[in-house]
Amino acid sequence: RGSCASDSSDSVISTGSEAESPVYKVVLLGEHGVGKSSLARVFGGVEDAGHDWDEAGNTYDRSIVVDEEESSIVLYDIWEQDNSQWLQDQCMRMGDAYIIVYSVTDKSSFEKASELRIQLRRARQSENIPIILVGNKSDLVRSREVSVDEGSACAVVFDCKFIETSASLHHNVHDLFEGIVRQIRLRKDSKEE
Ligand code: GDP
Ligand code: MG
Repeated sequence: RGSCASDSSDSVISTGSEAESPVYKVVLLGEHGVGKSSLARVFGGVEDAGHDWDEAGNTYDRSIVVDEEESSIVLYDIWEQDNSQWLQDQCMRMGDAYIIVYSVTDKSSFEKASELRIQLRRARQSENIPIILVGNKSDLVRSREVSVDEGSACAVVFDCKFIETSASLHHNVHDLFEGIVRQIRLRKDSKEE
């Protein structure tokens, strides 16, 4: 597979969006096992067929209509692709927006999310990049280790949006991507004024 900076990666799964609408690069970050690839597949409309996929990394290209306006999102699920510093540095640099995922059933993934937020801030100092903190696996009620309140408090501290999702139940996944598009548009508009 090619570099993540390439726009014509052969791993792009396109679900048919014509050009013209703005294209936003969105990068998934988070510890292994939190559900990044699952969220990406729900977003990309790729059916799971009941088995766990285990690819190194993928890129999904889809158009999405939010508030009657079309945008294209290229979603990069490549954070863990080869665990190289080079690739991770690229990831920190390339996104128009970021989705930082933790699992509500895994406290250490929540702590890792904070680290990633700090890393991102360092990499993109003066920029005001949209970030959404995502607590995934909200369906696993009995093994929850991170409460909704802890998640949203963390988002306040880190000045980003927050949502809980369940990739398994497809719960809030659409809202997550709508939220990303709205945030990107808001920042764009305020820059242009
Ligand atoms: P990644 O390493 O961050 O890409 O995580 P994966 O998407 O590969 O998911 C890791 C494991 O968690 C897989 O077994 C998924 O089926 C499972 N998983 C992902 N999202 C959810 C969810 O929302 N609920 C539940 N119950 N399991 C999930
Ligand atoms: Mg994965």
